[in-house]
Amino acid sequence: MAAVPSLDQLLSQAPVRGQRVFVRADLNVPTKNGVVGDDTRIRATLPTLRRLASAGARVIVASHLGRPKGKADPQYSLAPVAKRLSELLGMPVVFVPDCVGAAAESAVEKLPSGGVALLENLRFHAEEEKNDPTFARRLAALADVYVNDAFGTAHRAHASTAGMVGLVPRVAAGDLLQAELQHLRVVLEPIRPLVCVLGGAKVSDKIAVLEALAERADVLAIGGAMAYTFLRAEGEPTGSSRVEEDHVSDARRVLQAAAGAGRRILLPVDHVVAEKLSADTPSRVAKQIPDGWLGVDIGPETAAIYAAEVRKAGTVFWNGPMGVFEIESFAKGTEAVARAIADSKAVSVVGGGDSLAAVNKLGLGSRVTHLSTGGGASLEFVQGLTLPGVAALER
Ligand code: ADP
Ligand code: MG
Repeated sequence: MAAVPSLDQLLSQAPVRGQRVFVRADLNVPTKNGVVGDDTRIRATLPTLRRLASAGARVIVASHLGRPKGKADPQYSLAPVAKRLSELLGMPVVFVPDCVGAAAESAVEKLPSGGVALLENLRFHAEEEKNDPTFARRLAALADVYVNDAFGTAHRAHASTAGMVGLVPRVAAGDLLQAELQHLRVVLEPIRPLVCVLGGAKVSDKIAVLEALAERADVLAIGGAMAYTFLRAEGEPTGSSRVEEDHVSDARRVLQAAAGAGRRILLPVDHVVAEKLSADTPSRVAKQIPDGWLGVDIGPETAAIYAAEVRKAGTVFWNGPMGVFEIESFAKGTEAVARAIADSKAVSVVGGGDSLAAVNKLGLGSRVTHLSTGGGASLEFVQGLTLPGVAALER
């Protein structure tokens, strides 16, 4: 892996005072009626913004928000984010109603040293996701220095994450991106045994990471809805559980890959089953899923086995809940895994929006070595793939 310049290196090389520093951040937060909901992602990028502003840079922040389909759509405006960002930074944030063109250029010209501006949603222009070279040049025209702090979109080659990077003379990874890379690297070069726990909704979402980790993890423990596709591949009864018929052969391939590499894959040996997917439905524990019932969580015996593996681990990587954890009575498997990770002495990395929500709901966040903010990006990284947004920074 070639070196990615850090913010420390950038700041020690040459002063950024008075320079236009373009920061690609991930401020894709939920907004409703002009108000920001969960502001975790805004907070996560504050250290980078504060350091640059204190160093006297003219800080130009850019992000996407939601999926506006390449057109300006007020529902996806970053204006509420500018307000929240200003409150959190404790200083004014100039909101710029377009990310390129005359409005952006004049706002940037007027921005004083140490000032912060937030550009409107990058995805109001279809060229952003197309990584259009002209659009990349227009973005680059706003910057003397480029800093990427948006780990969550580092696996996408977009104009603001890849296209513009080579057009700006000085570049660096922000503190958040740097921390993500440093911690996730541990999964690629683990203290063994490496125990990976994968769950969540679909095999199809995570097939590539399943394949990669099946060969690399000493133990790969599978839960969540994806477990039933694996059980089907093993010829086990799955009742009415959510099985992805089109991916049973993928599951079989993952099982074979692990066997070929001499690695262990663990599948649930008992289940919490219910007649339907709702909170007010009766549920019970079963060794085999009966006809007409569906698996909604790993059972207590499975949870104990997975927890025991986590306790023996040198490194743990977890992505994807073990059951429908949004419903209290189907959350025990997910809780057991989260607690085992929190109690374990292993280096632990948890990724995935829902998995993070589960850990935080239990108040265990501070006992995990690293909570990764980028779901898709962290899965691609632990597969050993090159992230375009990171590759662009390597000089
Ligand atoms: P993450 O966001 O952590 O990557 P995913 O998005 O892949 O996780 O999966 C989370 C979703 O999977 C949750 O909404 C959860 O309810 C669902 N899920 C987990 N187990 C089951 C199951 N047995 N049946 C149906 N859905 C499930
Ligand atoms: Mg999710």
